[in-house]
Amino acid sequence: MLDALRKIVQEVNTADDFHAVLDIIVARVKSVVNTGVCSVYLYDADNDSYVLSATNGLLQESVGKVYMSTEQGLVGLVAHRAEPLNLEDAEAHPRFTYFPETGEEKFKSFLGAPIIHHRDVLGVLVVQQQQRRKFDESEEAFLVTVSAQLAGVIAHAEATGELRRTISQHIYDNGDERCYVGLPSAQGIGIGTVLLVSTPADLNAVPRRLATDIPHELEQLHDALESTKDDLRGVRESLNDKLNSEELALFDVYISMLEDTSLGGEVVTLIEGGLCAQSAWSQVIIAHIRTFSQMDNPYLSERAADVRDLGRRVLGHLQQLQHEEPVYPENTILIGEELAAPHLTDVPFENIRAMISVKGSHNSHVAILGRAMGIPTIMGAVDIPWTELDGVSLIVDGYQGQIICSPTPQRLQVYKDLYQEEQSQAKDLESLKDLPCETIDKHRISLWVNTGLRLDTMLSLNRGAEGVGLYRTEIPFFLLDRFPSEEEQRKMYREQLEMFAPLPVTMRTLDIGGDKALPYFPIKEENPFLGWRGIRVTLDHPEIFLVQLRAMMRASVGLDNLSILLPMISNTMELDSAMVLIRRVYNELTLEEGYQFKFPAIGAMIEVPAAVYQIREFARRVDYLSVGTNDLTQYLLAVDRNNSQVAELYHTFHPSLLKALRMIADDAKAAGCPVSVCGELAGDPIGAALLVGMGYKTLSMSSANLLKVKAVIRQLKLSELNAIVDHACDLDDTFAVRDYLESSLERPELSQLLHPAGAQARQSNS
Ligand code: PEP
Ligand code: MG
Repeated sequence: MLDALRKIVQEVNTADDFHAVLDIIVARVKSVVNTGVCSVYLYDADNDSYVLSATNGLLQESVGKVYMSTEQGLVGLVAHRAEPLNLEDAEAHPRFTYFPETGEEKFKSFLGAPIIHHRDVLGVLVVQQQQRRKFDESEEAFLVTVSAQLAGVIAHAEATGELRRTISQHIYDNGDERCYVGLPSAQGIGIGTVLLVSTPADLNAVPRRLATDIPHELEQLHDALESTKDDLRGVRESLNDKLNSEELALFDVYISMLEDTSLGGEVVTLIEGGLCAQSAWSQVIIAHIRTFSQMDNPYLSERAADVRDLGRRVLGHLQQLQHEEPVYPENTILIGEELAAPHLTDVPFENIRAMISVKGSHNSHVAILGRAMGIPTIMGAVDIPWTELDGVSLIVDGYQGQIICSPTPQRLQVYKDLYQEEQSQAKDLESLKDLPCETIDKHRISLWVNTGLRLDTMLSLNRGAEGVGLYRTEIPFFLLDRFPSEEEQRKMYREQLEMFAPLPVTMRTLDIGGDKALPYFPIKEENPFLGWRGIRVTLDHPEIFLVQLRAMMRASVGLDNLSILLPMISNTMELDSAMVLIRRVYNELTLEEGYQFKFPAIGAMIEVPAAVYQIREFARRVDYLSVGTNDLTQYLLAVDRNNSQVAELYHTFHPSLLKALRMIADDAKAAGCPVSVCGELAGDPIGAALLVGMGYKTLSMSSANLLKVKAVIRQLKLSELNAIVDHACDLDDTFAVRDYLESSLERPELSQLLHPAGAQARQSNS
């Protein structure tokens, strides 16, 4: 059965549309279970019922006509109880309802399995048979397994609107407007035109574009095929004495596949029909991969890999031939399968309005950069048909994580108004730039910024930051194709230190690993967030660590505003080892090489649970502590910060996190060690108020949030915040904490800051 299941999944994954998916499911399940009927009922929210959506065995005319609520029929019962129902004699069951239009009277026994995604019952998969016999255990288990697989596909169809179209046979009432959802990762409204970022030679990431010059596209296809054949001949030649004749013959097979008129012919037809060469080539190759992988013969099904490889090679040549510097629309909305920092740096800042990434989550690197630069960002938009959106007009609602394609004029106007409101609020906040960040009862809080790119550094300077609490040194490392030399690093660091001098700049040593892989230093691990990350990598590679420390310290000569921060510290030995190397570098530079500068302040990040319980021990070894709430939340709650599947469990106000944060503040105070927070919680106005109430006096955040946080803190009293925190720490769950904090901080003058434009947008969408 596993084999049957694998084949069904394969077919489903490559089906042309959702109708085809349902038809495949009902046909294949019916045949595997060897029964009379297989049907799928899907939830229709408009009617709050499950509607017969596909069948193989019942009368086709009944599709779309048979409805059952959770109160009705056996299908309704399966949905209501969210568990399988296996009946030898369906008619004898009190919930049996007869639907004459289906022609089901001859089918006696019934087996139904709910289709559940993230706890929602999306539908019911049913098999029926004429013989009066209970389906056996393996058949029941098979149906449950197929339902579980189907759930993801249905959830996708639901998100893309295809499910709604399947059920109600009409598109949204709003013309062509489509709405997709993702994870809101940087607040704000972005209105603009999509520019698609695709990975080179990725067949699934080719934007669907039309040809502007068909003969030219045909010519380029021909050239790309010829170049690929030349490459293959070259490789064959070079391996002549290393491979035997059968192995070498493989290259001839490859070459002849490229000469095959049927493959080329299909592509040519598509191009002549108006598609550009890259789109046509990838479409045909994907179809061939699908055909091969579905073949029963293992030798033939493995040929799918060869076709994919050839497809990529030709696509690579086509992309080289057709490479044009991207033209960034004035209002660019960047979309990619997995956006990363370098994509962002390519776009002129004044053009970029929003970012959407299919993969990733709120705390992925690019999302953090989006927040730092005030670019509305949506991550984990897994259902968006991103390759089809190049050049499409979009609204990105970074408050609610909504992406609205081809908006209606009314919707566009609502969002334009919200955008204007946002702009005027930002202007109003500018007046706070030079005012101190202090509570009403005159307690001073220092607001620092997190930086990484040159651009966010520039933005920070305009917002009245009092220092840099976290300079992520790995970000400039991402933009290169090798490790920067000591001198290159020194220049980068010098620029950062000079821009802020005499204000302090906290430079974190290289924090790679986890979701931050350098292209030239790949780390492949099963569990990257629990693996070789941060200080673990740099201690294992002193040649990288020492160069970085030397560059930082040399950069600080004459400025003396450097402090160094060590990431991912989980035990005192790591701190001790790092301190040995730091002292060694300092001694070499000052005693042996004659540089003169102050020994930098050294800090440890508190971002793994083990560190929370060793504050006193760490405090004896370093000058300050800095809490990384992004990772601390991830590790404390065991929720991958980058995984959109579990993003809903990433609770930034989880009571355990509150207890940990409070404990850190109290223990650091008792040890006489300064402690700040540089995770994203510090940049959330409500989170910042909570942290201040706990006793944190320095908060470091994306510069885009700095003035908002200042505005909120200036309206609050520390004594009140202390009491609010006391109560919040006694609450049971994250939502209770958030609700309580929101309601107790509520003041008319803060309303806009605590409930930004998104709340209003939500109303307009409903
Ligand atoms: C953190 O973990 O909170 C942090 C500030 O570091 P990063 O987000 O770079 O891991
Ligand atoms: Mg971290």
